[in-house]
Amino acid sequence: MKPPRFDYLAPASLDEALAILDRHGEQAKVLAGGQSLVPLLNFRLVRPAYLVDLNEIAGLDGIRVEDGRLTLGAMTRQRAVETSALVRERCPLLAEAMPQVGHVQIRNRGTVGGSLAHADPAGELPAVVAALEGELVLRSARRERVLTPEQFFVAYLTTAAEPVELLVEVRLPPMPPRTGSAFLEVSRRHGDFALVGVATTLTVDEAGVCTACALALTGVGPTPVVAREAARSLVGVKPAPAALDDVGRRVSAAVRPDSDLHASGEYRQHLAGVLTRRALARAAERATGPPGTRGEGR
Ligand SMILES: Cc1cc2nc3c(=O)[nH]c(=O)nc-3n(C[C@H](O)[C@H](O)[C@H](O)COP(=O)(O)OP(=O)(O)OC[C@H]3O[C@@H](n4cnc5c(N)ncnc54)[C@H](O)[C@@H]3O)c2cc1C
Repeated sequence: MKPPRFDYLAPASLDEALAILDRHGEQAKVLAGGQSLVPLLNFRLVRPAYLVDLNEIAGLDGIRVEDGRLTLGAMTRQRAVETSALVRERCPLLAEAMPQVGHVQIRNRGTVGGSLAHADPAGELPAVVAALEGELVLRSARRERVLTPEQFFVAYLTTAAEPVELLVEVRLPPMPPRTGSAFLEVSRRHGDFALVGVATTLTVDEAGVCTACALALTGVGPTPVVAREAARSLVGVKPAPAALDDVGRRVSAAVRPDSDLHASGEYRQHLAGVLTRRALARAAERATGPPGTRGEGR
């Protein structure tokens, strides 16, 4: 199929883009990498009167450190994140997750902002941002606001962003010393969306006792699912195999994934527990590993 008719607008600045959105509201849709939007247009699942292309706007992309936080501009290509030494150094969880997004051709065009705004609950980036409790910066012609992942991701393919707002950047906090992270997923074929994915970070003290843990999962709910209670149960104990098994069981018990064409809900539930245990084991190993392999904060 072909997309329905729309007016194509290519603003040259952020202010111009925000003014267009302010004027047209729900009638406008922004185009980033087009990897999700173009298929939706072609299937006529979305029918905007105006397509607002963000690709001509300078300064909406870029990877930098600001106030100690890794900051990614919304138009940063996923491939740029994947190949960034700064990302590898500052946020190894993100560096590990990125190559698992689709295929390299998709990551060459797909953007950080597009992936987050599209809010696919099977997406890697939403889970990484949820696990790290990143900040999502939204801007409209009238105001700027900063949302937590739990405020931003509200339902399946739905965020709290209003039609007049653009996601302009995401900020990720630094990793404390002795922190390890891991991103693990299972998909049916290379490049497919994962059936289930797990993003985790784990911090230990000098005695190897867990002082902080975060877990966020893809593919087990309508948004990225943060397994806060299960992660908290590890704090105060050493991440030994029995303790990790227990966290895996807690995660399995806490999630209620739906069945679909690709896998039953029961299988996803089981997978959530298995991947949690494996991801935590990997993160624990990295937390105590040599400097440079564990993503310490500076
Ligand atoms: C075959 C295939 C396999 C894929 N596999 C995966 C996968 O395994 N994991 C995964 O996570 N993704 C996967 N994707 C999706 C891919 O990551 C897309 O890049 C991503 O979902 C959308 O990013 P985009 O930049 O292409 O956004 P677009 O497609 O241009 O836009 C997506 C949506 O976000 C909105 N939007 C874009 N930018 C902004 C912004 N700055 N502010 C507000 N709204 C905005 C658009 O209006 C649109 O509604 C796959 C895609 C394909 C085609």
